[in-house]
Parts: sequence; C-alpha cells; structure tokens
Amino acid sequence: MAFKIFHPISFIVLIFILLAPIGHARRSTPSDRKSSPFDFIKKLEGCHKGNNTKEIHELKAYLEQFGYLKYQNKTHATDDDFDDILESAIKTYQKNYHIKPSGIVDDKTISKMTTPRCGVPDIVNGTNYMQSRDKKHKSGSSNIHTVSHYSFFPGNLRWPSSKTHLTYRFLPNFPNNAMAPVARAFQKWDSATHFTFAQVQTNQNSDLVIAFHRRDHGDGSPFDGPGGVLAHAFAPTNGRFHYDADETWSIGPVAGAFDLETLALHEIGHLLGLGHSSVNAAIMFSGIGAGQIKNLHDNDIQGIRALYGR
Ligand SMILES: [Zn+2]
Ligand SMILES: [Zn+2]
Repeated sequence: MAFKIFHPISFIVLIFILLAPIGHARRSTPSDRKSSPFDFIKKLEGCHKGNNTKEIHELKAYLEQFGYLKYQNKTHATDDDFDDILESAIKTYQKNYHIKPSGIVDDKTISKMTTPRCGVPDIVNGTNYMQSRDKKHKSGSSNIHTVSHYSFFPGNLRWPSSKTHLTYRFLPNFPNNAMAPVARAFQKWDSATHFTFAQVQTNQNSDLVIAFHRRDHGDGSPFDGPGGVLAHAFAPTNGRFHYDADETWSIGPVAGAFDLETLALHEIGHLLGLGHSSVNAAIMFSGIGAGQIKNLHDNDIQGIRALYGR
C-alpha cells in the first residue's frame, strides 16, 4: 500500500527509531508540517475588493469548489480581479464559519480556509443550507427560538423510510487495518439513530461502498494530493465514500495524521443525508485538523432526526 497508516504504538516505535543519532532522518516524521494545496491562501492576507494579486484566481477556484461562487462569465472565474462576486462569496463563507463578514481575506478567514477538510461543498446548487435552518421550537408555554446549524442536501435527499438497515462493503484495495475504525464509526451512528449497518463481503452487492482513491478517480471530484481535501461521500442513495489515499492516516490521534474513524463518522453523515454544519464541535463541520479526533454531537443527531422525521 502506498498510503501510510500510523497507529499510536507504531508511532512511538517510529519516534524511538527517529530519535536515534541519525538526526536528518527526523525529516521524515509524520508530524512535520507539509505543504498543502490550500497554502496559497496565506499569500492573500489582507486582500479585499479592488485588489489584483496573482493567487486570486486560485481563491476563486477554491470558493467555486466548495459552492460559494459561480461565474456566468468564465473569464472572470480565471482572472485575478477581486470583484464584487468574490467579495460576496467571502462574506458568505465568513458567515458560515462565524467570522465577521468583512469580505476581507483576514487572519481568521485564512485560518479556516487552510484547514484540511471534506471535499463535499458547503453550498450545493447555490443554496446556502448552513444558515437556512432557523426554527422555532415549542417548549412549554413559550416559543424558544433556536438556530439549528445542521444542513441537508437540496431536495432533502434521504433513504426511503422503509430502508433502515444499510449494508456496506470495502473495495478490494482497502487495507485491513483501516476497516475496524470504519466499523466503529458505523457502530456509533447505529447507536445514535434508527439505522442499523452490516458489513458484507467485497464481492457482494451493498448499499454503501468504501474505498481509498487518489487524484482523479472518475467520479468528477478529483482528490488533491496530501493535505487539502481528505475525503468525500455522496448524498443518498448513491452510497459512495472515498478516502484520499495520499493523506497520512492514523488510528487514533497522531500528530500530522488524520484519524480514520473521525473522517468515517463525518462521511457516513453525508451517506445518510446530512450536509455540513456550522457548529464547530459537530462531526458534520467541514474542517478537521491533523491529530484531531471527534465524536458525534447533539447537532448531528438532531439533524438526522429532523431529516427522517423521527
Ligand atoms: Zn463533508
Ligand atoms: Zn471520490
């Protein structure tokens, strides 16, 4: 297997090896900072409407990839003019990520935008679902106004109500030691929702299919090498969930690596019909740092219950 999976114990062994007198070997530790496809954003610090900097066309491509803008005029999509459309897209991004919507590429915006993340767009078909779920909940005699920051795919795509048991399989290239973390993630969704899950053999049909892929792998959403986009999954009832094979993956929290189970929890949320949440602690928040582990959050469970009316 070309991709690397670090287990905390093997990592400790690795550290002992790397702390051996050959100092230059430390350069290959997984905790080293690697360049990321999102690093260009750091060069845009302080940029605002009217600027013309050579990375601006890349920022436009980034915001288009995650659903924040779409130019009718394709020449504007690839030029370096910081125009009204870009400013408006940045403001929407800032609102989704609880940053003051200044339209300026400030520190906080750069910090969020350069965080490794899921490849599923925050906004699908131009509708900003991350902000649209203002709801009134009745509590006793008074109406309590709460904002539910979970989101769904357009048309509230979901599994039919009779379909509560979903099967999954791993494609043949899937490393054995990465299966248990995925199975644990299914178990957590199983415990928290009306769904049950079961693994079937690689050669059997299943509702869900899980695989590692790198770069362009034929589904219209190419991966981008180490860092940047880590994984993606499709809305119901497509069932596909892909890890980026170019990332350094771990079982548990390991500096410089991404936790397989945390990403599986997130991508299974998409498989069930959840979009991204603007709640930082929710598993459906788009970004995930290296070495970070997360669990299901009330916001995620509320989202599934709202989608399936349970
Ligand atoms: Zn996602
Ligand atoms: Zn894919």
